[in-house]
Amino acid sequence: MPALSTMALSDGATDFIDDGRLADLLHGAEPEPARLRAVIAKSMAKQDLDVDEAAVLLCARAPELIEEIFDAARRLKQEIYGNRIVLFAPLYVGNKCVNDCYYCGFHRSNKDAIRRTLTQDELRRQVEALVSKGQKRLILVWGEHPDYAASVMAECVRTVYGTRVGHGEIRRVNINAAPLDHEGYRIMKDVGIGTYQIFHETYHHETYARMHPAHTRKGDYAWRLDGLSRAFEAGLDDMGIGALFGLYDWRFEVLGLVSHARHLQDRYNVGPHTISFPRLRPASGVAFDSRYFVSDADFARLIAILRLAVPYTGLILTARERPELRREVMAFGVSQIDAGSRIEIGGYTEAGDAQVMEREQFSLGDVRSLDRIMCELLQDGYIPSFCTACYRLGRTGEDFMSHAKPGHIKYCCSPNALSTLTEYLIDYASPETRRVGEQLVRRTLAEMDEKQRRLAEGLIRRIEAGERDAYV
Ligand code: SAM
Ligand code: SF4
Repeated sequence: MPALSTMALSDGATDFIDDGRLADLLHGAEPEPARLRAVIAKSMAKQDLDVDEAAVLLCARAPELIEEIFDAARRLKQEIYGNRIVLFAPLYVGNKCVNDCYYCGFHRSNKDAIRRTLTQDELRRQVEALVSKGQKRLILVWGEHPDYAASVMAECVRTVYGTRVGHGEIRRVNINAAPLDHEGYRIMKDVGIGTYQIFHETYHHETYARMHPAHTRKGDYAWRLDGLSRAFEAGLDDMGIGALFGLYDWRFEVLGLVSHARHLQDRYNVGPHTISFPRLRPASGVAFDSRYFVSDADFARLIAILRLAVPYTGLILTARERPELRREVMAFGVSQIDAGSRIEIGGYTEAGDAQVMEREQFSLGDVRSLDRIMCELLQDGYIPSFCTACYRLGRTGEDFMSHAKPGHIKYCCSPNALSTLTEYLIDYASPETRRVGEQLVRRTLAEMDEKQRRLAEGLIRRIEAGERDAYV
């Protein structure tokens, strides 16, 4: 058998994506309603689905069966996550790139791209701007380039954690960057990152090869697919997977994501902490093939199916999408969104509201301010949360699952969400957001069971008395 990669992979690495098998599963007949309902019942019992079962949901075509999927996803989301939505912001640190990904504005042969890497001082100023708006969780993003070695990324993480403005600071730094070797992941673990995200873009081998030229680092399918397995071996246990929807058949990509989640679960006893499902957006220097464009209706379906397939995995919906669509699909299982986002390098202090294609990786669909989004979420009855308690108390990986699965997590998440929301309302909110927010806090407290309410009221009293960062 030829070697999977010329690079050093994880112990016993395999290419676990069998294109033929996944395609066969999708060519199955429309499932009998009884079979579909049995699969949904397994999800509602909060068990992960296997790939064959996810395929049953993907093969449903009758409108009434699709409606049953939506309905179940809505209920499951409510049971596990309640009304909470975790908020974060992306921070692009550098866009130099050695790869030539066909779809991305940063690809190396795009001569129009304006290349830039933030200095530590510039990075600090971006973080100050974000903290001043009330952000607590960031994801740092880089292209792939020798200038962005793990030691350099770690220095940036230290700068972010070391920046304070008034009462505020960033409490969790996640990373979206190229796959690393074992040593690189150890460096990232030592500096205290939250999630390490790697999107596989497309799980379909032939499409992957077309999108990522063979002579580039990203052209090595196995190196990327194995990226998070190496991270586990190096001691990180908080992983994010994702696929870029629009490169190939969306139903195939959903099966790819479910296969990846199952692989991590089977091998390391811990599934991914999050799944992302970015949809392709216009980008500088990129001509699109619209054959696999995912419609809004299919996008909503894929979110609902992912919700049912991996009940305890966070689902991340980004500002690539328009406000109206974000609002609509949130109900089917999204648990995290970014808000107040700018993806131009330096965009939080320099860009104003205009988007300049040559400076960014792709264009955004939602550029509303954090406060505007907070206000809309609160009006819709969502509880925006900036909670970072689990990872700071070591509730990650297997330990997180042992808390999450029996439902204990709700005694932490809801009180912590109200604590971080109260901080936001006091320190950063506009008068209107504060008014709507305080009403929702009162309503939520009134609906809690006594144990939860006592915990939440205790935290809120501490915040009102001037303490910050109070959590259980
Ligand atoms: N360079 C690293 C990598 O490729 O893994 C870091 C991530 S890249 C800056 C972030 C993600 O943006 C990619 O993994 C891809 O899924 C997504 N992306 C790239 N081009 C896009 C486009 N035109 N529209 C939407 N998302 C895109
Ligand atoms: Fe570079 Fe990542 Fe863009 Fe590919 S997706 S060109 S690796 S920044």
